[in-house]
Amino acid sequence: MSKLKIKQKTIQTIIFDFDGTLAKLNIDFQKMRQDITDLIGSYAITEKQIQTRFVLEMIDAAADILTQRSKKDAEIFFNEANAIIEKTETDAADKGELFIYTKELLKTLPAMNIACAIITRNCAKAVKIVFPDILTYCPVVVCRDDVNRVKPHPEHIRLALKKLGSSAKGTLMIGDHPIDIKTGHNAGTLTCGVLTGRCTREEFIAAGADIVLANASDILLSPPFCEGGLS
Ligand SMILES: [Mg+2]
Repeated sequence: MSKLKIKQKTIQTIIFDFDGTLAKLNIDFQKMRQDITDLIGSYAITEKQIQTRFVLEMIDAAADILTQRSKKDAEIFFNEANAIIEKTETDAADKGELFIYTKELLKTLPAMNIACAIITRNCAKAVKIVFPDILTYCPVVVCRDDVNRVKPHPEHIRLALKKLGSSAKGTLMIGDHPIDIKTGHNAGTLTCGVLTGRCTREEFIAAGADIVLANASDILLSPPFCEGGLS
């Protein structure tokens, strides 16, 4: 049973994650991670603590170490790493597709006076391949390219809230990974995990999600959007 703290009529804004939440998740994160690990190894960086980070943060940490040795090497490494990430993302996007309910959901919520934005660690190029007319459905989309520090750093979600003129209070962050729950917690929003990625209900509960839904569209069947929804 979901731990539901969301009270009726408390949500004015919803921030969605993209991959696994609004679109089918195709990115091969394992291969991406291995390719980046191999690249880092080729620069003779052996610090083990790098391996425990998410892949984008691995790149930042390795670039920081390289900067101490040679700024030029750090720049070359950073460009090589980004090329690997972007190729993996755009290859996945070529095979990607939106979930069947995504466009309808993004049309329905604003009609209910709920402001919506999308934040993603993916690059804008890959998002546009999967969802070319995304801005028609959601005018605020903040990709990796748009921020210095991606989620779970709160800068990412705060930029989306700023663009919407919304505040963290009254905002629900919806995503398919505990990183999305952490993002919401870091910024002070309510949080919702969805089971359309690779994570389980138990993982979301352990991460402290306020609610767990089968998919993002189910938010329309839940309070505060539907009387007598989940309770
Ligand atoms: Mg995701």
